[in-house]
Amino acid sequence: MKRRTFIKTASAGALALTCMPGDNRAKLPAFEIALPELDYARDALEPHISARTLEFHHGKHHQGYVNKTKTFIKDTDYDGLGLAEIIQKSAGDESAADIFNNAAQVFNHSFYWKCMKPGGGGTPSGKAAAAINSAFGGYDQFVEALKAAAASQFGSGWAWLAIDGSELKVVKTGNADTPLAHDMIPLLTIDVWEHAYYLDYQNRRGDYITAFVEHLLNWDFVEKNFA
Ligand code: MN
Repeated sequence: MKRRTFIKTASAGALALTCMPGDNRAKLPAFEIALPELDYARDALEPHISARTLEFHHGKHHQGYVNKTKTFIKDTDYDGLGLAEIIQKSAGDESAADIFNNAAQVFNHSFYWKCMKPGGGGTPSGKAAAAINSAFGGYDQFVEALKAAAASQFGSGWAWLAIDGSELKVVKTGNADTPLAHDMIPLLTIDVWEHAYYLDYQNRRGDYITAFVEHLLNWDFVEKNFA
């Protein structure tokens, strides 16, 4: 094993011991099968994300995933389960693909709105900064990895900062797929479906990703997920 790899692994292990005692899933925000209120006005992320984008993205797309999840779970074994349970139980089950896709999108979007705030961006502090420095070597290297994952996701999907076992990782998922389905704990996400940016940036996904990182990223939420 290369020394650098060993150091990274050792650091990630220390992170797990200090920050993630007991059941990692307890660290997930508890989201309902419902459209959450945003923590900010729909025009509060302008000029980086327009009110019109949020009207469609939050008001139509996310609402649609909520409605479809409720329809698909009605009178099934999934009815009455929590959102995270529905996602984990349906993951990998082809016959439950409609349930998985819609429930995962309800979670992913509820999580995504929290990852942004007006006047966001800047650099992390506290546990997030320490963990990112240990795992990636610094903020700049982390941002490079996050931007690369977000830009290279082919077609619709998501880029994430997540904890996988004891390791902090940048990962990307396609369509509705989510770290929850892979026993990972998400800490941060960027939605890179075209509906997230097309009205404001058209095909310029890279400009949207840069605006997200520099002006919207809510490090307070990321920090809370570590706590
Ligand atoms: Mn979306």
